[in-house]
Amino acid sequence: MFHLKNLIGGELTDPQGGGWIENIEPATGGVLGQIPRSQSADVEQAVQAASSAFPTWSQTSFEERSSCLRRWGALIAQHSEALVAAESMDNGKPVSLARTVDIPRAQKNLEFFAGAIEHFASESHIPADASYIHYTHRKPIGIVGCISPWNLPLYLFTWKIAPALAAGNCVIAKPSEITPVTAWMLSQWAAEAGFPKGVFNVLHGYGHEVGQAIVEHPRIKAISFTGGTQTGAHIARTTAGQFKKLSLELGGKNPALIFADCDFDAAVRTTVRSSFANQGQICLCSSRILIEESIYPAFRDALVAKAKRIVPGDPKDAATKMGAVVSASHRDKVLGYIQSAREQGATVLCGREVPPAPNERCANGFFIQPTILEGLDAECSINQEEIFGPVITLQSFRSETEAIDLANNSTYGLAATIWTQDVGRAHRVASQVESGIAWINCWLVRDLRTPFGGVKASGVGREGGFEALRFFTEPQNVSIPTGMGSH
Ligand code: NAD
Repeated sequence: MFHLKNLIGGELTDPQGGGWIENIEPATGGVLGQIPRSQSADVEQAVQAASSAFPTWSQTSFEERSSCLRRWGALIAQHSEALVAAESMDNGKPVSLARTVDIPRAQKNLEFFAGAIEHFASESHIPADASYIHYTHRKPIGIVGCISPWNLPLYLFTWKIAPALAAGNCVIAKPSEITPVTAWMLSQWAAEAGFPKGVFNVLHGYGHEVGQAIVEHPRIKAISFTGGTQTGAHIARTTAGQFKKLSLELGGKNPALIFADCDFDAAVRTTVRSSFANQGQICLCSSRILIEESIYPAFRDALVAKAKRIVPGDPKDAATKMGAVVSASHRDKVLGYIQSAREQGATVLCGREVPPAPNERCANGFFIQPTILEGLDAECSINQEEIFGPVITLQSFRSETEAIDLANNSTYGLAATIWTQDVGRAHRVASQVESGIAWINCWLVRDLRTPFGGVKASGVGREGGFEALRFFTEPQNVSIPTGMGSH
């Protein structure tokens, strides 16, 4: 049984109010441990600790900050199997996914920003006659809040805290109360990595309590948030009057556009992965599969045949490709959408039933079969609302224009996947699809230098590379005459 603690001012502490939340294992429905139910008093204490640490940390050399992040990354590598097991147990994802994606990418996040800060230079502008020097000094903001979701727990947690710390800020981080274990493990190694007390603080608890208190606190100057669109809208309303800097990475309803001239096998193979990886609980997962009419039957049948072969299994089993969804309430929400789709006239091509438990240990776990739906109107709730589970819909199109219209028929705009071997079409379609990310003939490829984020209801701002370092710094422009040229 885990008994998690907050990290405040370098000390692992219980919540001041003494409240606790049960942490449930998705694969079994059993209790894994207890999580601090932190409140505004804990936020206040963390703000005090961070305020004391900020003057020194903000003046610490890039090299020293970089070394702390590198040592932390090495500690992730050293403890990687323990982190893999914990992430899988806490989230329900297969160990194979945690081992190949979540934990190595979390380590990479720390290493990447350790390097990025050493290349992040302030800019200067000098007119032709050299009469002035203008330079833009990028300063750390101060205390920043980093709030992350449950689907890629350590991966998205480190994606925020690494640039924030590299840039010289003190951080108050809040992982999801549904999957807090790996953030807690990382917090225990902060001192060993070399972070001074108060530079990095972690508060556990409910979003509407401790999350809300972080967002409201006047001395927390920026919020980097990843989570649902409704929560993002609420945070934007809460912080508007305080003019906080906000980065919002929100939900998606991502289209995959499959043209008749695609590499058929590669498109089928990758679309199965982009639809059902992590039980469909990745903000970048495809959820609306748009298929050119001439290949619709063949593509549908191939997709269904492959999806039927995915059998949800015990996440601990090395051979498992699909694990449990994250909670009972999330399972019920996803099943509710499937039921509603049936009532709206959908044909359920595969899925629909709650599968038998993979073994005795998992008898009370939260499992859903990959589900493929066809015959739904583009406007219906199933095609418009984010389901965030192993459920996709199929729609057909006749022309490139119709494909783009269908893709853009959404309030969301996070990621689109385009399958075609026509290079001209690939670029044409990518430029017209309303999304922050477009993958052509691939999916989930990442280069940490590229901007990451969405448009429309999928978010505001970009993470990744220098975009993240810009977010976590305030530019100040300074101009000084040189005595040369004309003034
Ligand atoms: P959520 O919005 O319920 O919670 C996200 C985080 O916000 C949690 O830590 C939660 O405790 C906290 N929170 C909730 N209410 C809050 C409040 N009032 N003030 C401050 N914090 C609050 O989202 P979730 O269910 O954990 O995650 C799933 C959602 O995240 C999906 O919509 C998914 O698309 C989205 N997501 C987006 C991206 C992206 O990069 N765009 C990545 C992953 C997940």
